[in-house]
Formats: sequence, structure tokens, C-alpha cells
Amino acid sequence: MMSQGLVTAAYIIAAVLFILSLAGLSRQDSAKNGNLFGMAGMTLALIATIFSEHVAGVAWILIAMVIGAAIGIYKAKRVAMTEMPELIALLHSFVGMAAVLVGYNSYFNAHAVAPDMHRILLVEVFVGVFIGAITFTGSIVAYGKLSGKIPSKPLQLPFKHGLNLAALVLAALLLTWFMKADGSVFALFIMTLIALAFGWHLVAAIGGADMPVVVSMLNSYSGWAAAAAGFMLENDLLIVTGALVGSSGAILSYIMCQAMNRSFISVIAGGFGSGSGSSSNTEIAGTHREIQPTEVAELLKHASSVVITPGYGMAVAHAQNTVAEITDILRREGIQVRFGIHPVAGRLPGHMNVLLAEAKVPYDIVLEMDEINDDFAETDVVLVIGANDTVNPSAATDPTSPIAGMPVLHVWDAKNVIVFKRSMSSGYAGVQNPLFFNENSFMCFGDAKATLELIQKAL
Ligand code: NDP
Repeated sequence: MMSQGLVTAAYIIAAVLFILSLAGLSRQDSAKNGNLFGMAGMTLALIATIFSEHVAGVAWILIAMVIGAAIGIYKAKRVAMTEMPELIALLHSFVGMAAVLVGYNSYFNAHAVAPDMHRILLVEVFVGVFIGAITFTGSIVAYGKLSGKIPSKPLQLPFKHGLNLAALVLAALLLTWFMKADGSVFALFIMTLIALAFGWHLVAAIGGADMPVVVSMLNSYSGWAAAAAGFMLENDLLIVTGALVGSSGAILSYIMCQAMNRSFISVIAGGFGSGSGSSSNTEIAGTHREIQPTEVAELLKHASSVVITPGYGMAVAHAQNTVAEITDILRREGIQVRFGIHPVAGRLPGHMNVLLAEAKVPYDIVLEMDEINDDFAETDVVLVIGANDTVNPSAATDPTSPIAGMPVLHVWDAKNVIVFKRSMSSGYAGVQNPLFFNENSFMCFGDAKATLELIQKAL
């Protein structure tokens, strides 16, 4: 057993490690250390919590941990990089569920609390269950949409904003009743049902293109749910950790909204990416030109500057290693090769950066959208590898497009644009892409890995 003083000291060190972890994760070259800090902090936090004076039944906790860890390790080893966001969404739902369970547990043990703390605990229970239940169903729907088990089209119920508002008002009224009745289980239960439905509707009403923001928003909610659980359990570290996750998730959501030129409120109000814009369903007139891998290799050999803009398709095709090898060959020939990364390319923030780092592409040639957008005009060849929405010019030129206003990579300014994909189908937001029909665009059809391997051979 650890004394309370020792536990508190361990908690402070763990909290500092978590802050160092977040700081490390903000840059690619320090991200690995950031993860190590996080793991060290969590190990310390777990040891201090499990062996603190308040905890009984350590054996049960250890059994639960072994089972949980086994499932976690199995899942983490099996998950494909492309399935990461949905796994994260699923894990957020567990945090939400945990907050609900902790809430009910605290409620049924509320009589054990000193009378002066009783009413505070009741508020904590109510708020914790409310946030937890929203996070739970919201995350399940996000998981369903990202994994394709639920259609990614936004659900458009009549009076949807009214429904959301009604849910909030009802929850507030139920809180009043709950407090007046000194903790009516009926009020708590009805609120739980409303919060579950509210969370489900909130995310169901959001369209494909807004999913990245939703995932990070749910990340934020799961943090606040954990902080609420921390208040109920009187665990300071859980409050601190929950607040760190909650606020960093909120900041990330804000940054992503800026990257997509959307206000946070309009994301939550939903409906973006519904494909209801006038240009989304209309066929784009014109013809596209095809190009063979050997011709692409010739073009590359004679280029002096090349920019690669990867997207979700590169992850699907597992083409990152071939991309890295081609980059290497070209650079050895003295050709300038750089990468342009859109903030929401792929299916989670930083998705492309992780893949390129895994393939050992040097960090200094991987640039962000703002750093490279002005350079396309001086670029000979752009290789668009499995990217679609993030290079769609209609976002910049067509105000009626569902993705209008979303900043995109201006690849069309380059002399030659080679698009690697399997067909003419649209990207995640379901929007047609006029880029494919431009004079200077050439389609290289096929699985990106297979076609890039042919190019690598020809080089
Ligand atoms: P998109 O999802 O717009 O397009 C990907 C393209 O890759 C498809 O058009 C597909 O075309 C092609 N593709 C798929 N598999 C292969 C393959 N094996 N080989 C070659 N091509 C392939 O990708 P972007 O990265 O440009 O855009 C990301 C989209 O996802 C944005 O709309 C973004 O808002 C959204 N999103 C982003 C998240 C994030 O945090 N980054 C999270 C959730 C959604 P084809 O079928 O013809 O091969």
C-alpha cells in the first residue's frame, strides 16, 4: 500500500509527463518521445492508483487489466493504418460508457458521502452521466460511419436543430427535478436516455467531410467525461488528465475547422458533405486523358521539381514505401522532390505524416499545405497519389460545391498533374472532381502501389 502523500507525488509526476507527452506529440521528430512520456506517465498513474489506500480488491483489478490489455494488444497489432480513426472512435465510446457507469455507481453510493458534499456529488453525477452518454452513442455512430457500417450521408430529420435544442432544455429541466427530489433515479434515467439519443443524433446528422472534426470533438468530449468521472471518484489525476484531453481535443477541432474553412457551430449544426450541393451530383462535362506508368517515369526523369500530394488512397494501397523509394531515386538524380500534406488528407489528422515517417521519408521535405501552395506554379510534375477531395479545385472556384471554401492543395497550377487512382469515382465527400478533366491532368489508373512499382522499375 502506498501512503496518500506518495500517491499525490506520483500523480504530480504523471501529470507533468502527460504535459510533456502532448508537447512532444506536436512535432514529428519528437512524437516518439512524446509517446514514451505518455506511456511512462500512465504506468506511474496506474501503479499509484491501484496501490493507493482507497483501493480494495486489487486482484480483481489486475485480472480485468490482463483481459483488457490482451484485447488491446491483439487489436493494436491487427489494426490497419486505414482503420485507425474508427478504432479511436470506438475507444472514445468506452470512455463515455465508463463515465456513465462511474456516474451510476457514485449515485447508488451517494448516501456514504458527507451531507455537505452530497448535493455537489449529485450535480457531478448528473453532468458526468450526461457527457458520458453523449460521448458513448456519438462515438459508436462515428465508428459506424468511418468503418462504412453506417452510411456516411448526414441524417436529415425534420426540425433537427429543434430536436437538439429540445434535448438540451429537457436535460436542464430534469437536472432541476433531480436536485429538487434530492436525486430522483427516474430523472437520472430519463436524462440518460435523452443524452444517448442526443449523442446519436448529433453525429448521425453530420456528413462525411466533417468527420475528422467530429472525431476530434468526440476526443474532447471523452476527456471531459473522464474529468467528470475524476470529480465523482475524487481522483485529482483523472481530473487533470481529462481536462488535458478535453482541451487539446477542443483546440485540435478548432484548428481543423480553420483548415476546412468551417465554423465550429456549423459543423455541429451538421449537414456538410451531404452531396446536396448543385455541383455534386451533376456529371462534369469533358474527357480525361490516361497515362501509362512508363510514360510517367519518362516525365519524372526530365523534371527538375516534383511535388507529391498523398491522400487516403495511398494508405489503402500501402504505397508509402514505394513512394519513399521513388523519392529516393529521384533525389539521387538531383531532382527536387517535396511532399504537400493537406491537414485533413487521409482519415485522421496526421495520417499521411505517420505513413511517410514509417517509410522513412525525411521530415524536411514533407511540407504543410500553406508552405507549398504557392510553389505549384513552379513545379514540373505533381503526383496526386490516392488524394481526391483535398485537391478538388471546385472547393476554391465553385461557391455551390458542398466543399466550397475548404482550402485545398492548388495542384492544378503545376505543369503536369498525374492522378493515381483506380477509377473516376469521387472521394470521401462524394463530390465530383473537375481536376481530372483539366488540360494538364493525366490519370494513371490502377492500385497505387502496383502502378508506382511499375514506375519505380522504369526509373
Ligand atoms: P479522398 O477520400 O477524397 O479520396 C481518396 C481517393 O483514393 C479516392 O478517390 C479513391 O479513388 C482513391 N483510392 C482508394 N484506394 C486506392 C488504391 N488502392 N489505389 C489508388 N487509389 C485509391 O482522399 P483525400 O485524402 O484527398 O481526402 C480525405 C477526405 O476524407 C476529405 O474529404 C476529408 O474531409 C475526409 N476525412 C478526413 C479525415 C482526417 O482527419 N484526415 C477523417 C475523416 C474523413 P478510386 O476509388 O477511384 O481508386
